[in-house]
Amino acid sequence: TSDISIKEVRRDFPVFRHYPSLAYLDSAATAQKPQSVIDAVKGFYERENANVHRAVYPLAEKSTALYESSRSEVARFIGAERDELIFTKGSTESLNIIANALATSGRYKTFVVPTFEHHSNFLPWQYHSLKNEIKFVALPIMGAELTMTEVEENLTGVEAPFVFSIGGLINATGYRTPFEDLTELVHSFGGLIVIDGAQLVPHEIFDFKKVNSDFLVFSGHKMLAETGIGCLVGRAELLDDLTPFVFGGGMVDRVSIETSSYAKERTSRLEGGTQNISGAVSLASACRYLNKIGMSAIHKHVSYLTETAREMLKQISNVTVYSPPDSHAILLFSHKNIHSHDLAEFLGRTQEVAIRSGHHCAQLQMEALGITSACRASFYFYNTVEDVERLIEGISKAERWFL
Ligand code: PMP
Repeated sequence: TSDISIKEVRRDFPVFRHYPSLAYLDSAATAQKPQSVIDAVKGFYERENANVHRAVYPLAEKSTALYESSRSEVARFIGAERDELIFTKGSTESLNIIANALATSGRYKTFVVPTFEHHSNFLPWQYHSLKNEIKFVALPIMGAELTMTEVEENLTGVEAPFVFSIGGLINATGYRTPFEDLTELVHSFGGLIVIDGAQLVPHEIFDFKKVNSDFLVFSGHKMLAETGIGCLVGRAELLDDLTPFVFGGGMVDRVSIETSSYAKERTSRLEGGTQNISGAVSLASACRYLNKIGMSAIHKHVSYLTETAREMLKQISNVTVYSPPDSHAILLFSHKNIHSHDLAEFLGRTQEVAIRSGHHCAQLQMEALGITSACRASFYFYNTVEDVERLIEGISKAERWFL
């Protein structure tokens, strides 16, 4: 059922040595880190630490070379050119930079976002459209999915050029959107498409060139790297058009009292201030580790765990699963008689089973499902079938405890 040697994989993650009986089912919030990533960060601070793109002494040249080779490696991981990838703090910051720049460009008439999006891919578009008198279309959803016909109907009549922003894998439910077909559709209507890959990129091979989307954003911490590092990927001509969000050191060409010109180098212009250098190093190291395990093997193992858990959850009569039938890596569910926070707290404190509860930064998705809160179990390749069984047993124990 799996091409992954799970025992070996788990040995790579020190957290499981420190907490041998932890069933960590919250990787959609953040992933655990392998030793190789931790070592890469440590090695950087021990041997390569200096600021980048500034000084000319050998240590600074070394750190600059490492920062830039990290960019190239991460770009290769998602099929983009090195100068199409900007390092940011994460998906939220990337989306804010894009929404701010596209709104203030004055070029776009409409922003379109489905209502099942993570707040990070909803609020920036809502805020900047209100601020700039751009029409905001919150695409309604039935339940947790979206059909091409629905999108097509909603895009008909939308004033172009517009921007359509959508998650690749929806964080609350694990719904995998048809973003490839949507890219074609959006382009045929004269729009730009932004793909929020925060949940998708850790789980699937994403080929920026092949998908042909206009922008892609993702976060390092959900794919084994440090927190505080993420990416904004965009087609070169679109990046050249983005107004910088951060002005300061490192992003200028010439400064005078009257006016200033900005760095010609695309990536420098959009990376003002000292960047998260060790974060970039950690993300490149994470990409190497993911490639070593193999993204298809990771996908297969996680699918197996998701399906196993789905079947087992469905057999508990008081549990409702809200995720669509083929959701990936994520299951959203609730118990008829136990509040999601009570269930998650019981599982965490008494069973060492870590799941999330609440609205999962997706209040409109919750609304569409007719709930305000639910439990979310999410899987990654270091999880085992035992973790799933512990979740199921834990729910039975909670039923005995609470009811
Ligand atoms: N989009 C999605 C789909 C997410 O799942 C998340 C994180 N939960 C974000 C955006 C925001 O990512 P970050 O907090 O790393 O900026």
